[in-house]
Order: sequence, then C-alpha cells, then structure tokens
Amino acid sequence: MNDPSSRLREIPQVSALLEHPRLAVLLEGRRRSWLQRVIQDALSDLRRELLEDGGTVRKRDALVDQVVARVEDSYRELTNPAWTRVLNGTGVVVHTNLGRANLAPDAVAAMAAVAGHNTDLEYDLAAGARGHRGRQVEAKAALLAGAEDALVINNNAAAVWLAVRFTAGGGRVVISRGEIVAIGGSFRMNEILAEAGCELVEVGTTNRTSLADYAAELDVPGTAVIKVHRSNFSVEGFTEDVSLADLAQLCSERGRPLVYDAGSGALFPMAELGLPAGELTLDQDVACGPDLVTCSGDKLLGGCQAGIILGRADLIAGLRKHPMRRAFRVDKTTLAALDAVLSAYLRAVDRPPVPTLEQLGADLESLQDRAEKLLAGLAPLAPAGWRGEVVPGVSSVGGGSFSTAAIESRLVLWQAEKTDLEDVHRRLRTGDPALVGRMNNDGLAVDVRTLGDDELPLVIAAFSAAWTQAARSA
Ligand SMILES: *Cc1c(COP(=O)(O)O)cnc(C)c1O
Repeated sequence: MNDPSSRLREIPQVSALLEHPRLAVLLEGRRRSWLQRVIQDALSDLRRELLEDGGTVRKRDALVDQVVARVEDSYRELTNPAWTRVLNGTGVVVHTNLGRANLAPDAVAAMAAVAGHNTDLEYDLAAGARGHRGRQVEAKAALLAGAEDALVINNNAAAVWLAVRFTAGGGRVVISRGEIVAIGGSFRMNEILAEAGCELVEVGTTNRTSLADYAAELDVPGTAVIKVHRSNFSVEGFTEDVSLADLAQLCSERGRPLVYDAGSGALFPMAELGLPAGELTLDQDVACGPDLVTCSGDKLLGGCQAGIILGRADLIAGLRKHPMRRAFRVDKTTLAALDAVLSAYLRAVDRPPVPTLEQLGADLESLQDRAEKLLAGLAPLAPAGWRGEVVPGVSSVGGGSFSTAAIESRLVLWQAEKTDLEDVHRRLRTGDPALVGRMNNDGLAVDVRTLGDDELPLVIAAFSAAWTQAARSA
C-alpha cells in the first residue's frame, strides 16, 4: 500500500495543470513553454519529496493544490527582483556575500543617471567623433595613486591575469611560496597564473622568502615577478619577507617586470580609522616602484566592483591594446560609480564620505549611542523570556583585508532559549528587508557598526515581524 509507486500514482499531469483555472491565468498571453517548465520543476520536486518522506498516500486534489501553490510561488519569484535588501548586522564591513562596499548617494545617483540615459561615454562631443571618457576616470585613479597611468577593468582577478599575461608574455612568473593565496571560493593565485599561460616558479618557503631566493631566479629572459598582498591570513613566528620596495629595486636592477597584487587597494590611510598600522596605501605601493599595481574597486577603496591597474605608462598603454582587455571591459554604470567615488576622494579635505570608510571609522561613542537607541526601540517589543543588552563586541574588516584586525564595536545582544534565537534569526534572514546578525554561544547579536542610523527603524520592524510570526507559530 505504501510502496513508492503507489505514492506517485496520484501526481497530476502537466496537461491537466495547464488547464487549472489558477494557472491558466498565468498562461494568458505568455509563452506556454515557460509555464510548462515551471510546472515540470514543481512536479519533480514533489515526486522526490513523496519518495523521500515515505508518508501516507495523499489524495490527488491535495497534490494538485500543492503544485498549483508552488507554481504560483515560482512565478512570483521569477517576476520579481532576484535579491532582497539586507540589513547588515554582522559587523563585517566588506562582506563579499552581502555585496561588499555600499556606495554613497551621489555615486548611486551617478550610476542611475548614466543607466537611464545616453552619455558621451566613448564620444567626443566637441569633435563629433569617437572619444574616451573612461580615460578621465582612469586619470583620477592615476592621480590619487601617484601612478603614471591607470586602467580600469572588471575586477582584480582579471587585473592580475591581464597584468601577468602581458608582462610575462607566456614566460616564467616568480612568486614566493608564502603568497600563493586563495581568495574566497574561486580565486587561487596559482590557477590564475597558470591560466595566464605562465610557468609558475615558486621561490622560498611558506614562512620565509629572502631577496636572494628571488635573485636566483631572475637570470632567464622572459621572467616576470609577482608579489601578492596576504589579504586574508597572516604568517607569524619564524618568518622572513621581502618588502615591496626591496623587491622592486632588485627587479629594476635586473630588468624584470614586477606586478604587485595589492588586493584591497586603500586610498585612505587605514591607521587613521583606528586599524592596525603598517598597511600601505595605493600611492605608497606605487611609490615603492613596482611596474604595475593591481587592486579591487569594492574592498577598502569603497567603490564598485572593478579592477584597477596602476603603473608605468608604456605598460598601461600596452594593456589597453591587449585583445583580452575587451573581454574584461566594464560597463558605463561601473565607470560612473567609480568616477563619483574617486571624485569624492579628490574633493575631500580629510576622510572622504565613503560608506566603507565611515563604517570602519565610526567611533565607539556613536556606536554606543546607536546600540542604545536600537535596544530602546526593540525592548518594548521583545517577547517574554528575551533579554537584550548593549555589550562590547568585535567587528571585522572583511573582504580579505586586515585579516587579524579586531575592531572594538557595540552590539545589541539577545539572550533567550537557543531554539527561539535560531528560529527568530531564520525569520529575520528571510524577511524583506532581510536582517543578518551573528549567532554564537552568547546569543543573537546585531553589530551596529554595519548599520546606518537611518536603518534602525527597519531593524526594529524586522524584529517586530519576526517575533510576531514566531509567537503565531508557537
Ligand atoms: C580580493 C583579492 C583578489 C580578487 O579581487 P576581486 O576584485 O574580487 O576579483 C585578488 N587578490 C587579492 C590579494 C585579493 O585580496
């Protein structure tokens, strides 16, 4: 009676479902194949569930209702934006999974302006002929970094690939064993270098690489060198490293090109925001003398997704003409956003109004104040058994930057039954806007460093909705 095939026997047919009144409405005026596919997907999900759950045989009418509801849900999802706004209560400032840097309103407006209208992106209005407005953005980046010239492409992964491909020309690339890094899930330096058609020449060891290790590999013509910022880990103990300046001097003496992957690419001194000293800014990297420096646009720089290559004018000119440059080209909205952010740096007397820098630089007093305001708004809504308080906590930079930096912050910490905390956190994450906090042994925490004052009402509304839903389902 309860064998798998009998459980599947009552599954409705696609053809019958297409005629169901609630689905026929969706079909009207639209392509039949779309709805057919959505129905088929819903049916295969149902088939798998029926086989797995081994429960009682359900009546056909109940199954039809279930499939129709799922198809309606899928259709709603398909016709709405693919993502949800997230209130970032994690305290991770450059959160790659949450979209990295947020842009200031003027940068967002600049993006919107070019998105909805034609612009002189590649047109010289005075001459009435082809031009290169993008060059102006690159000139701003070059000026800020003190580089001869700059090139903007899709992201730093592409920037590293292109810079190495061009300078090594399919030859040898020397890299320290301590710098063959993996960033995120899909960027491995050794794989990028191999895909750039280069022969990887590893020197030194994981913890120690000396100038002599590099020097021993520079005799062969067609050899380039790459140095990589250890963005997301640190090496401690018995270590030795070659500074960028020393390596640049060696490479210049030996006539070998040096590419430096700076990773984050800070334009503002992070120590002034309270982060550990010792990290170089992009202009300091460039001043050390490597031939090319690459970085991301949306990490510590605080802009949009982009890869920026800075350095020698002759090399940048060569990169600009490289056939693969076209494949890594950015769109006009990226150029507009980056232009606005770089202009903000150029206009600023002190810290530019870039959200990433503002979040990193927020002082404890303002964080305490924000956390108290948030708690005051939430406390009257909290269910029985929930205790909230403002506690010290630690934010992190994220985005593979300052891996060991722990920035003191303020959290609103909630304690309750563990299952209740988890249930409410799940409801917060699936709300709209969603709220992502931090769950640990102490409870459910919301780090206010990564939230704006203007977002507090949204956070309160999100908790209110989650608590109400939880009470209803209890
Ligand atoms: C983040 C990072 C990259 C990759 O940059 P994307 O802009 O994400 O492509 C490459 N190298 C280093 C050292 C990084 O930190």
